[in-house]
Amino acid sequence: MPFHHNDFCRICKGRNLTLFFSLGKMPPSNSFIPKENLGEEKFYPLDVYFCHECKMAQLLDVVEKEEIFSHYTYFSSTSSPLVEHFKLYAEEMQKRFLEPNELVVEIGSNDGVLLQFFKEKNRIVGVEPAENVAKIAAARGINTINSFFNEIIARKILSEYGNAKLMTCNNAFAHIDDIDEIVRGIKTLLADDGVYVFEVKYLPDLINQKQFDMIYHEHLLYYTLRPAIELFKKFGMDVFDVKKVSTHGGSIRVFVCNRGAYPVNDSVKKMLEYEESSGFYDLKTFEKFAADIFEVKKNLVAFVRKLKSEKKRIIGYGAPAKGNTLLGFFEFGPNEIEYITDNTPAKIGLLTPGTHIPVVSNDILKTDTPDYALLLIWNYRDAVLKREEDLRKRGMKFIVMLPKLEVL
Ligand SMILES: [Zn+2]
Repeated sequence: MPFHHNDFCRICKGRNLTLFFSLGKMPPSNSFIPKENLGEEKFYPLDVYFCHECKMAQLLDVVEKEEIFSHYTYFSSTSSPLVEHFKLYAEEMQKRFLEPNELVVEIGSNDGVLLQFFKEKNRIVGVEPAENVAKIAAARGINTINSFFNEIIARKILSEYGNAKLMTCNNAFAHIDDIDEIVRGIKTLLADDGVYVFEVKYLPDLINQKQFDMIYHEHLLYYTLRPAIELFKKFGMDVFDVKKVSTHGGSIRVFVCNRGAYPVNDSVKKMLEYEESSGFYDLKTFEKFAADIFEVKKNLVAFVRKLKSEKKRIIGYGAPAKGNTLLGFFEFGPNEIEYITDNTPAKIGLLTPGTHIPVVSNDILKTDTPDYALLLIWNYRDAVLKREEDLRKRGMKFIVMLPKLEVL
């Protein structure tokens, strides 16, 4: 079975863990399937645990990484707000940490969406496990190694290119089961005065905004700052700065260095104070979150049933991985949601994992006008409402579910 269950915390190795939110059994969120493979789907528990020692929230049921990441249907460059985000990100890093020609290494570099902006001034290496995605990056001129990142790959890059001044990992830092292995690799490759920067979804935003659909098998780790500090401490490294960024409905950008290489900014202390005073080290906060989400489910299911009883047509708008958590948790299938529109060629023509709703091109909405569209890409809410102004004039309404139910 390409699956295992851990009985310890990934960060502190403690065994005092409590399950606080069970979303049932689901297939991996990005595994859109062709009709002919319907019988072959595998379902795995999607349960979130809280570690009482280091306060990390995490999944303990692990779908092996080869199963999820060897072929991938998420291409970062398909999202234009994300491309703009990475452009500014690269500019900030160059200004703050990099001299021309110094080495930048990205773990989980996807199609090169970030590295493309370093290419002119710096040497770059991307490490990307998905063969189909790595090929696209290489075709765009992004120097890419098609592999999972680990200590061996770190040594290989070291011997070929020397130390990295900047290492980075975006979102993928929440995807890792053996996190110690990754940090050892970073430690191996990073220059003494080098900086490791990662961006991940910030758990307090997930909780505050009720973004439970960000929970899926790829996301093994749900970060607050405190366990991140603890993780790097074990390897003689400091978290020396942190800032909030808006990606994925609220993320943090965390800056890490070898111990003492940079002074620790006040931002670190401030964020720890915020987390503590807001209850993010307390199991009760997480239990309340889970109860709230079951309430959201009850309300939305009742709302959709009512619309269906009035013979209204409902579709889904956008087919992100997180949409599949939501559809699966709400138990919506083709009877509730007729089809889902998306622009990603790799998804069009397939069915959503577990719920089996057909994914079709956005073009269908040029001629078809359903009554309602469930907005699954809520993180692009404003952009979508603007883009689909004509469709709304034709009479289609958007249903926004989170953080509260709205019809727009
Ligand atoms: Zn722990």
